[in-house]
Amino acid sequence: MDVFIDVILPVPIPQFFTYRLPRHLAELAKVGCRVVVEFGKSRVMTALVVKIHGNPPEKYPAKYIQELLDTEPVVTPTQIWLFQWVAEYYMCTAGEVMNVALPSGLKISSQSKIQYNPDFHHDELLTDLEKSFMDVLIREDSISYEEAGRLLGEQDLNKFLKSLVAKHAIILFEEVNERYKPKLIKKIRLHSDYATDENALMLLESLGKAKKQQEVLLKYLSIIPLDQLSEKNEEGIDKQRLKEAEVSDSALAALITKGIFEQWEVQVSRFDSLESDSLREIQLSPAQEAASDQIMGLFSTKDVVLFHGITGSGKTEVYIDIIKKALDSGTQVLFLLPEIALTTQIVRRLKRVFGDTMGIYHSRFSDNERVEVWRGVLDQKFQFVVGVRSSIFLPFSNLGLIIVDEEHESSYKQFDPAPRYHARDVAIMLALKMKAKVLLGSATPSMESFYQAQTGKYGLVSLKERFGNAQLPHIRLVNMRVEREKKTLTKEFSSVLLEAIGQNIENKKQSIIFQNRRGYAPYLNCQQCNWIPHCNQCSVTLTHHLNARTLICHYCGYSESVPRVCPACGSPHLRSVGVGTERIEDDLREIFPEAGVLRMDLDTTRTKNAYENIIGEFETGEVDILVGTQMVTKGLDFDRVNLVGVFNADKLINFPDFRSGERAFQLITQVSGRAGRREEKGIVLIQTNNPANRVLQYIVDSDYEGFYASEIKEREAYNYPPFSRIIELTVKDVDRNLAQEAAEVLAKRMKDYLGEQRILGPERGLVERIRNKFHFVIWMKLEKEKMNIQATKQYLQKELVHLITEKKFKSVQVVVNVDAV
Ligand code: ADP
Ligand code: ZN
Ligand code: ZN
Repeated sequence: MDVFIDVILPVPIPQFFTYRLPRHLAELAKVGCRVVVEFGKSRVMTALVVKIHGNPPEKYPAKYIQELLDTEPVVTPTQIWLFQWVAEYYMCTAGEVMNVALPSGLKISSQSKIQYNPDFHHDELLTDLEKSFMDVLIREDSISYEEAGRLLGEQDLNKFLKSLVAKHAIILFEEVNERYKPKLIKKIRLHSDYATDENALMLLESLGKAKKQQEVLLKYLSIIPLDQLSEKNEEGIDKQRLKEAEVSDSALAALITKGIFEQWEVQVSRFDSLESDSLREIQLSPAQEAASDQIMGLFSTKDVVLFHGITGSGKTEVYIDIIKKALDSGTQVLFLLPEIALTTQIVRRLKRVFGDTMGIYHSRFSDNERVEVWRGVLDQKFQFVVGVRSSIFLPFSNLGLIIVDEEHESSYKQFDPAPRYHARDVAIMLALKMKAKVLLGSATPSMESFYQAQTGKYGLVSLKERFGNAQLPHIRLVNMRVEREKKTLTKEFSSVLLEAIGQNIENKKQSIIFQNRRGYAPYLNCQQCNWIPHCNQCSVTLTHHLNARTLICHYCGYSESVPRVCPACGSPHLRSVGVGTERIEDDLREIFPEAGVLRMDLDTTRTKNAYENIIGEFETGEVDILVGTQMVTKGLDFDRVNLVGVFNADKLINFPDFRSGERAFQLITQVSGRAGRREEKGIVLIQTNNPANRVLQYIVDSDYEGFYASEIKEREAYNYPPFSRIIELTVKDVDRNLAQEAAEVLAKRMKDYLGEQRILGPERGLVERIRNKFHFVIWMKLEKEKMNIQATKQYLQKELVHLITEKKFKSVQVVVNVDAV
């Protein structure tokens, strides 16, 4: 009987494809193995087996697979289920999910190769030359382009191959070689014949005049002394150590050839280099102990528990306690962190406790490293993984607990490309499937999660005191209007903030300044004619970056050098308007020339270790002030920070989005939480034009519950999440009118189906044009209680296909973002 497989292909096509297995592989292939298949005319790609069966496809003849890459599954059945669930929920394809889930090392790299087509049975169509060429192919399995060229000599290779392709005699494919390479180190030891002190000494003598070889041996014996040779020779030493000792390479090679030294390779973990101190015992405070007990207790009745612990309460220590309990019970644990926090202090703390049993899954790690974690999870070497959002796609088989730290973070949502998934929400689904528990932790929980806790769907545990004797900081609003009137501002700094920074420098304390805008200034402005440089592909101003002497578009990356004179009127008087982190850094250096100032934002943290280096430097205490964007608000824990300054709080609060209040509360509360985390009480100074603002008042009072209560009323009144789900549709086209028209058509059709009140828009995108495409946005607000979300999505899907298959709208693109944040 013929055997067929259904596979997921890494392409945005919604269905599975069926291929045929050659007989000799029929027994070997399993669900979750990867295969190489031909797709379309001559594309070759890695696909994932999701089903093995005996039914040939009805609509097309099944092709043979080209290669089976695994004999044991690298993807589990639960993952295959998850890929499909995510695809359905977030309205994308399983192939797109697989694409983000699998590290590229598990996909293939390409180089053209030629293979004969096993389905070809028409020798009579071939010329003699073609026949002999085919004979070579059958013998060799496959050959490269170059080899084919050599075989054919004078012949026109491309023409020749084209004819064979046309006759379906051959297949061109991209060579499959697994990109994953384990990290190997070379080791060296003495042959066991010489591994006693006596024999080693005799050897030394016998080497006689070969001084260089003697040197190698002596070096080796300085690392493993004679008297330890009999026990320690076996495990050998890193070859690298001899190299570092600058012994002669050729002498070492000669000794290996002679069989005096043996060389072999061992595979090492890439994480061994991460410093790990001795394992540390922790002693929970009574309040932490109580929180931990409550969480464990609630897990007996709730699948999800929200842990609301104020900044500095020691949530990490509570997590550690709970992770240990889960690991002790024999299950796997996943600890999710927002992207940027990963390289920081928290990973080091976890590493100290869990050592090498912990895998780290981070987008800044190389692909090889990610493949290693993947395999480590698969064969259960890593029972515990700390990772960013994509680590929910690792091949867990026995997951008992998922912790989502800083669960309110919007970076858990993937924005682009599809799948536009929210890792917290997917984690909850996955846990449900695997009967695992979920612990969501935050000092400023999302409205969604706190609402679930209030209604009793999630358990709720609060920890309201800081660890040790630390107290929450004193938060003060600085009225910028008053300072402006009194003319007490220095540049954009209030006198209050400057004085506090100055005092901190004197007292050898540290300060953090938060401004959510990178670059020097948001734009340049000609003082003569008012000209402002804009991006030529996007409808935004170009941000001035002073050090780089460029104007940069923060949407598309376009950059140009700063003009010396205004291109419109020739005036040399160009002024930078507004304040970015770079400018704050510059100004602080000018105002406090004796102080050490560091900046942490996207521009200063592009390289792999930059982030850690800045934190390391700040930790040493040489630095007085750390200026930064969002990055400084998260997870940092420093002894001597007792002042936090917040620039431009109004900008955060007034952002035109229903979540801006929630976001501002979270960001400012989180950054405030960096202050005064030890004995001394910290101070937070927030510069604002509007001190009476509701959100700011709750921040000053450190009143999360109060903020929640007032915010949730508004959400309910306007039917925003958590009372509804939002699906955001972005309609794009280079032709503005066409984009608008398509958006209007789509909105109309959805209004007809769902009713006027559930559809908002279309409206121009917040930035109307990005990379030359015009954006129009439609929002679908679907009540959680009343709506059949599934049916609505299906209807929407149908309408989307309907729209873009209309000839007129052929070029139009629609991006669907389910649960847009
Ligand atoms: P959070 O994440 O809740 O803001 P952290 O977990 O960073 O707080 O803890 C704040 C500080 O208190 C850290 O320096 C941490 O090492 C310390 N800490 C918390 N709990 C303990 C404990 N039980 N024993 C020793 N140090 C602790
Ligand atoms: Zn001008
Ligand atoms: Zn641009």
